[in-house]
Amino acid sequence: MSTRQGKRYTTSYKEREHPKQDPYAMLKAPKGPAICRKCLAIYADKRWHFDEVKASKLAASPRTRKLVCPACQKIRDDYPEGIVTLTWSGLREHDSEIRGLIANVEARAVSVNPLDRVMKIVRRKNELEVQTTNDRLAQRLGRALVRSYKGKAVYHWAHRDMMVRVTWQGPEGKRGELKKREKVLAG
Ligand SMILES: [Zn+2]
Repeated sequence: MSTRQGKRYTTSYKEREHPKQDPYAMLKAPKGPAICRKCLAIYADKRWHFDEVKASKLAASPRTRKLVCPACQKIRDDYPEGIVTLTWSGLREHDSEIRGLIANVEARAVSVNPLDRVMKIVRRKNELEVQTTNDRLAQRLGRALVRSYKGKAVYHWAHRDMMVRVTWQGPEGKRGELKKREKVLAG
């Protein structure tokens, strides 16, 4: 159910009216390698990557351009491009497990693109809100939650398609039914 919705959404994403203009995109690529002074991500050959050994060498060289990468800029400016809201009565019970899942999805995303990051996780009453530096990671989190716990994820684009809001609702129906059945059995 939710996967179908996800797929349909992916298609409309490709056909979106407004091509995405990330205000944090690096329009002018620096010549030679550059390094983020906050997270030590390296920019070379038009892409970002992490490499601790190379990073410490680059950081020590006066010729290396030092800047703040788009992900660290978004974190500094509190500018999420993805917000995932988790609603589920089982949230507290599965809290550490869910946070582990979020960390795993982020780690996989970061290994491909260091700019895909979780900015913060905020608890609001019975909800958990995860803010990400880009829409891709937010969508991945929605899919991962559905894969692991079922339930349903809904995707909404906002701010001229710059930002995605993902709402994941955990599997309440089944739990409710289960309780009802238990009651019937008990009665
Ligand atoms: Zn950075």
